Amino acid sequence: MQLQEVLFTQGFGTRRICAGLVQQGHVRVAGALVTDAAAEFPVAGLVFSVDGVDWPYQERVYLMLHKPAGTECSSKPSAYPSIYTLLPAPLRQRPQKGGAVGVQAVGRLDQDTTGLLLLTDDGQFIHRMNSPRRHVPKVYEVATKHPVDAPQVGKLLAGVVLDDDPRPVRAAACESTGDRQLRLTLTEGKYHQVKRMVAAVGNRVEGLHRSRIGRLELPADLAPGQWRWLTPADLAALQ
Ligand code: URA
Repeated sequence: MQLQEVLFTQGFGTRRICAGLVQQGHVRVAGALVTDAAAEFPVAGLVFSVDGVDWPYQERVYLMLHKPAGTECSSKPSAYPSIYTLLPAPLRQRPQKGGAVGVQAVGRLDQDTTGLLLLTDDGQFIHRMNSPRRHVPKVYEVATKHPVDAPQVGKLLAGVVLDDDPRPVRAAACESTGDRQLRLTLTEGKYHQVKRMVAAVGNRVEGLHRSRIGRLELPADLAPGQWRWLTPADLAALQ
């Protein structure tokens, strides 16, 4: 693929901008400066750099973000900065089929919720992960206003009725992890589900953090606001 096209597919701007980046000496391939925008490279395993920052060529991208509190999972946020501002421009600009651009979050977390959030430009992956039939477990660490007691844990496991559906929703797993702390595993993703379930048993969520999706844990060394690519092992942990 021509180098200008490589840059275009990876979100570095219009074809004209991408050609300019190469011609003006911003782009290296395997450490060597390339100024011919039409130079051809095989894309398999291609790593190029723009202004010293390495980018692997990827047909689809999969990443995790440690979502910080006070950010919205919307590209048009109403009150807080968008999570997308935490990502580099190429990830926000990658051209998609049908004219859409950029990666999308796989489901949403509330503004005040922290923790593991997946993003991708693979629509089928988003669909698979969000499908209620797949029951992908999501683990939440919950700080509560009042002490957690055994009857509350029992009710969360047995099922509680929320205001928008007469069918009870239950936690796939639930344990008290401290005086005012719960670990709750859900396999569905209704609006404000953890907060509403905890309220339904007479307690209140004061802090919410998603620590795991499937078998994929939020890495301890990924600070709030940081992101990284998903590895093949990470992807396997989501199957
Ligand atoms: N449940 C909630 O109530 N909020 C979240 O952000 C995620 C799950």
